[in-house]
Amino acid sequence: MLRVESLTKQYRTGDKALSGVSFDMPAGQVVGLIGPSGAGKSTLIRCINRLVEPTSGRVLLNDCDVTHLGRGALRRARRHMGMIFQEYALVERLTVMENVLSGRLGYVPFWRSYFRRFPQGAIDKAFALLARVGLTEQADKRASALSGGQRQRVGIARALEQDPELLLIDEPTASLDPKTARQIMRLICEVCRERSLPAIISMHDVLLAKMFVDRIIGLRAGEIVFDGAPAMLNTATLTEIYGEEDWTQIHQGDDDGDERAMAHALEPPPEERMAGLA
Ligand code: ADP
Repeated sequence: MLRVESLTKQYRTGDKALSGVSFDMPAGQVVGLIGPSGAGKSTLIRCINRLVEPTSGRVLLNDCDVTHLGRGALRRARRHMGMIFQEYALVERLTVMENVLSGRLGYVPFWRSYFRRFPQGAIDKAFALLARVGLTEQADKRASALSGGQRQRVGIARALEQDPELLLIDEPTASLDPKTARQIMRLICEVCRERSLPAIISMHDVLLAKMFVDRIIGLRAGEIVFDGAPAMLNTATLTEIYGEEDWTQIHQGDDDGDERAMAHALEPPPEERMAGLA
């Protein structure tokens, strides 16, 4: 399980991005992190695996205090935290398979990774993961030849290849069209549930978060202002997170919790309707 205790981040510029953020996550829970641009979502995700160094507070992953690890131990701890990025971060000239295997680089000795030699077990696992994310046919294609949705599927398989205990996912659907965004969110949530894998997903699309995640944490100016079930997000809480907006679309489909009703509410594309949120 993940425990975040009183996490604070003040950048050198003086910007206070996080102010005493605390929450616990049990195994298998998928959390949607929402909030306006600049609320601290990215900083929170990056403080958890210390891509950004927190100013104070603690992060405990399965009782390991990540915040006080030395460099070697941090490198080992990061193997347990898979990260998926908005911009995919694939190596363009490598194949889909090689990109997935690169998730193993923390495990493979330097000389083997240098010659791109991986144990057969890792290769078998990568094939199984490519099948799971629907990319078997693309295994030998270069990453540069893939669509946005396919690229994000590679990102998911690569993160899973490292056998993570936690997934940290930064705006996974920001560059995708609405239909592909829903497919990717569904895939992420399914693989997390299959593996009892906890995940934190930062997202700017409230509808998408409501549709798929187990719990929503709303950040505003570096503080948690909402923490609860998606069904508890109402006009008052949304206004507290984002400020005054017309939230009527967000509540469509709430009565029956029907995913199709929510999907219907997604048209026209959320970027247009949610433009005022960012
Ligand atoms: P979000 O992901 O919700 O858009 P961020 O975590 O990117 O929010 O930013 C939170 C705050 O921290 C903002 O005020 C932003 O300007 C500031 N910030 C983010 N990254 C840096 C940085 N590298 N240096 C200085 N300030 C930063």
